[in-house]
Amino acid sequence: MREGGANMMLLEKKKMKMYVAGEWVERDREIDVHDPQDNSVIATVPAATAEDVKRAIELAKEGKEIAANMPVHERIAVLNRAADYIQEHAELFATTIAREGSKTIREARKEVRRCIETIRISAEEARRINGETIPFDQMPGSENRIGYYYRFPIGIIAAITPFNDPLNLVAHKVGPAIASGNAIIVKPATVTPLSALLLAEAFHAAELPAKVLSVITGYGSEIGDTLVTDPAIRMVSFTGGVEAGKEVAQKAGLKKIGMELGSNSPVIVLKDADLTDAVESTVSGAFWAAGQNCLGVQRVYIEKDIFDTFTERFVARTRKYVVGDKLNEQTDMGPLITEKEAIRVEQWVNEAVGKGAKLLCGGKRNGAFYEPTVLIDVPASARIYREEIFGPVVCLYPVTDLEEAIQKSNDVQYGLQAGIFTNDLPKAFAAVLKLDVGGVMVNDSSDYRIDGMPFGGVKQSGLGREGIRFAIQEMTEPKVVCFRFNK
Ligand code: NAP
Repeated sequence: MREGGANMMLLEKKKMKMYVAGEWVERDREIDVHDPQDNSVIATVPAATAEDVKRAIELAKEGKEIAANMPVHERIAVLNRAADYIQEHAELFATTIAREGSKTIREARKEVRRCIETIRISAEEARRINGETIPFDQMPGSENRIGYYYRFPIGIIAAITPFNDPLNLVAHKVGPAIASGNAIIVKPATVTPLSALLLAEAFHAAELPAKVLSVITGYGSEIGDTLVTDPAIRMVSFTGGVEAGKEVAQKAGLKKIGMELGSNSPVIVLKDADLTDAVESTVSGAFWAAGQNCLGVQRVYIEKDIFDTFTERFVARTRKYVVGDKLNEQTDMGPLITEKEAIRVEQWVNEAVGKGAKLLCGGKRNGAFYEPTVLIDVPASARIYREEIFGPVVCLYPVTDLEEAIQKSNDVQYGLQAGIFTNDLPKAFAAVLKLDVGGVMVNDSSDYRIDGMPFGGVKQSGLGREGIRFAIQEMTEPKVVCFRFNK
């Protein structure tokens, strides 16, 4: 293991460098990184240009050969060393996540633990990239042949990531890419680039060969097109909002596309459910990371017999949420990523209230902070009824039965994950079959994920799946080999 590089003392050293093919690089033009809590500048990163991206792509052309030729045991060793490095510096990683983003220190520590897990699973999956033999003689005239397919790396991957999980969502692209022998260029969200740079340090320290990984900091609007349109990029792996995702997919052209997009996830609570459990889980799912979570609970459909009791208990639990300083161990919820985002959330809530929704708690903004908010009677004409709020606001709706709950759950453009609370197995299975989503959690909220499971959405929530093994499938292609022989 070698030293990580230029940025390690993040909290003392504010001028961060970006990582271009194994080198730490500065630029005169810089981007300020703010702590959204008080808007103070905690660091600067280089503002990369299209020229920087072109250079990273040129170097990645060599990097992809190096990556593909790395024996699997070396890939495993590098990944495990990177995981060890993060573990050793876990508190620095957590503090960085908590300072540049919205997460509280407790939420940030969980993300660091998950990132370590993601990279260790990547190391394990590297040894399981298998093919199969093919019985060619299934077709008349195709006798006397023997062969197989194996999976080979796709080449250079462009990874574009969002602000809300600034470390682990980057690891979900970098880990599988290295495990499967690809080169990768990461463009992290401009508001939260620091965690991705620390991840680059971990791989640098782990002696990942230069040119296999770059982390380029810069505005998507300035460098995005150069990155996604270059024909040398064979896959664009994007996680972010649906609008940017559509634009990227349109511009990328003929290359593989992975799209992990947004949602406004539903949870169904039936009258036989364990209410204590359902309340605890849905409140946490609604307000995790100040509601800025692709799996976050936005809509709860509750059987009408238990609607009043559930709502009362949900609001009581929400009122106990401690909102404040992210680095305080007691804090449950921090600010939104920017004041602008908090103002947008405020406007959406005000619009809903103006159209007849009832505010049961929350609804107040202070700078970038927005209180955990519960709405009922939200009319279908309100924006929050259909669109993704991506903030700490949840809408509770009474429903007559499971059928109505499923119909309403499906009646949006998104379909990432859903939850259902019930002890009635046939009803749980009916929900599993009929909910139009990438994952159904029974007796958990939509906000449940482990890093090794297939993860992704249907409809406007995405294309393809992440979750290491599944990401590796997307990042590799099968090559068929057939030997013909004379008997
Ligand atoms: P965003 O605004 O869509 O940005 C995501 C990334 O795309 C950023 O790095 C951004 O760069 C970049 N970008 C924007 N426009 C681009 C363009 N034209 N070309 C290339 N890159 C471009 O999303 P966000 O606000 O960071 O994240 C929130 C969204 O992500 C929510 O909708 C959430 O549901 C979704 N999300 C989905 C998942 C999932 O796994 N399904 C996970 C987490 C989040 P800049 O920062 O420089 O603009």
